[in-house]
Amino acid sequence: MPNIKVDEARCKGCELCTAACAKKCIVMSTTFSVTGYYPAVCCAPERCTGCGLCAQVCPDLAITVFKEEKRK
Ligand code: SF4
Ligand code: SF4
Repeated sequence: MPNIKVDEARCKGCELCTAACAKKCIVMSTTFSVTGYYPAVCCAPERCTGCGLCAQVCPDLAITVFKEEKRK
C-alpha cells in the first residue's frame, strides 16, 4: 500500500499538499511541530494511491512517497 511520510522539521504548514491530494489523505495537525508550525499528516494511508502530487507541490521538500510498505 502506498504511503507518505512528512518531515515535520521541514514542513511550514502551507497546506498546499492538502489541496493537491485528490484522495483527501492529508490533514493539518492540531499540535505544533518543533519548529512552531502545524505540520501536515497523512490521515488515511489506505486511500493513498502513491500519485506523488503532494510531494511535487511541497515547496519545502518535506514529503516522501513510498510506493510499497517497508519490509520489516
Ligand atoms: S501520494 Fe497522492 S494520494 Fe497519496 S497523499 Fe500524496 S497526493 Fe494524496
Ligand atoms: S506542502 Fe509541504 S510545507 Fe506545505 S503543508 Fe504540505 S508538507 Fe508542509
